[in-house]
Amino acid sequence: MHTVEELIDRVRQRGGKVTPQRVLIYQALLGDVTHPTAEQLHQRLCGLLPHLSLTTVYAVLNDLVDAGELRRFETGDGQIHYDPDTEPHAELVCLRCKRIQDAPPPLGRSPLPEVVGGFRVLMRTELLHGMCPECQKELAAAAHAEHDAG
Ligand SMILES: [Zn+2]
Repeated sequence: MHTVEELIDRVRQRGGKVTPQRVLIYQALLGDVTHPTAEQLHQRLCGLLPHLSLTTVYAVLNDLVDAGELRRFETGDGQIHYDPDTEPHAELVCLRCKRIQDAPPPLGRSPLPEVVGGFRVLMRTELLHGMCPECQKELAAAAHAEHDAG
């Protein structure tokens, strides 16, 4: 993961444009470990940038994905999620509340193979689907209440 300054340098080195609007999008994205969607980032930035369109957010995110600065993946909830952490790692996905969080090391941290079956490998998405601690508690409490109600 980079700092905003590092990211700006890298985008400039590639000849990309860096506008104040883009810098705010980078800032919102880089500290984010919730794997937001473009819509969530857009909503979060609306207060700061009232004229920011969702199309612009998508364009900036897609630029970063193409440059290898951002990971884009789906978890089965019909949404596209973004992760500024481009190092290999696994994600935990709750089937009930749909939350996504990074799995603790060493899960998913093995280095990427360079070439597999003639494919040059650029990234890997590793998802573990299950039930988060909060959902487990809620389900246990609901089962308990049902039992008490008889
Ligand atoms: Zn959950």
